[in-house]
Amino acid sequence: MANSKFEYVRHFELSNTTYLLPNTYIIIRIDGRSFHRFTTLHSFTKPNDSRALSLMNAAAVAVFHDLGGEVISIAYGVSDEFSFILRKECNLFERREAKLVSTIVSIFTAYYISLWSTYFPSQPLQRPLPTFDGRAVCYPTIENVRDYLSWRQADCHINNLYNTTFWALILKGGMTPQEAEKELMGTLAKDKNEILWSRFGVNYNNEEEMFKKGSVVYRNYGAVPESSADDKSDDKEMDSEIKEKGVVELTSMVSPAEAQKGKSRSQQKREAKKLAKAEVVIEHVDIIKDAFWEKRPWILH
Ligand code: ATP
Ligand code: ATP
Ligand code: MG
Ligand code: MG
Ligand code: MG
Ligand code: MG
Ligand code: MG
Repeated sequence: MANSKFEYVRHFELSNTTYLLPNTYIIIRIDGRSFHRFTTLHSFTKPNDSRALSLMNAAAVAVFHDLGGEVISIAYGVSDEFSFILRKECNLFERREAKLVSTIVSIFTAYYISLWSTYFPSQPLQRPLPTFDGRAVCYPTIENVRDYLSWRQADCHINNLYNTTFWALILKGGMTPQEAEKELMGTLAKDKNEILWSRFGVNYNNEEEMFKKGSVVYRNYGAVPESSADDKSDDKEMDSEIKEKGVVELTSMVSPAEAQKGKSRSQQKREAKKLAKAEVVIEHVDIIKDAFWEKRPWILH
């Protein structure tokens, strides 16, 4: 490449590039921009629009496929946000923060818009078009990553219980939003459960798992599908919808026999390849307790 007298400006860029700390888990969280307004404009069902959540999940799965198997180990989505946990060894873009964040935001947004009509066939996408912001944070230990995910899932639970009660007071109880807000001021979880049950006959435990737990997306390695005794028809409908789009939703997994330790390099490479080929799955399960992680030791290591 021929040098020009203008080329010195490149040095400004190089001195301003952030390379994320090596050997740490990079978490990139994206969040819908002004989605309060966006959801109103597109008449989302309140408090939870399943179509919109499925669309978020489909866009997240697209990020997994686009980036290949070596990059993301797990992702967690709730409301208008998604967190992508990158492998500790990830060296994509030499771990340049701006490249990583902008690429994930861009892939996600592109698929969100292009898949919109699949999930909202009778609802044209209006302007301002949906866009997302993104940020990256490095976490050094598995414990930090587990705590991060627990933080997001706890947030999902708290918000969903609040929103479910808030909208029941409005839609079934005939309250105005202001009255509902006042009614819920200072209430604890048990009070909200009680309001739902005694006034509206709603058992919060029977709400959809996707609403209560959010969505967990990861590569299914060495897993077999198991049928679950308490399968609900709603879940089944979503299963078939997701299967049509080339994604498999499973209710539980079987762990691979071997852990990651004490393996030759070629064995590690073989397994990395197998992992890269493994199907991307979406589940709505508890990731705060240990059980999920104990059954799936390949996700975080
Ligand atoms: P910001 O740009 O700061 O993120 P925001 O309006 O997007 O602003 P958030 O805190 O991200 O604010 O909240 C997201 C909003 O979108 C909430 O009002 C939430 O209820 C709504 N929302 C997101 N997903 C859904 C969904 N699937 N169904 C119904 N409402 C949703
Ligand atoms: P990276 O992901 O690293 O950016 P890249 O392949 O996009 O890789 P760039 O340095 O960004 O590499 O170069 C963009 C490429 O796209 C060049 O090969 C350029 O010639 C080509 N290109 C971009 N715009 C046009 C266009 N309008 N018509 C023809 N070719 C184009
Ligand atoms: Mg926000
Ligand atoms: Mg938002
Ligand atoms: Mg949000
Ligand atoms: Mg380019
Ligand atoms: Mg370029």
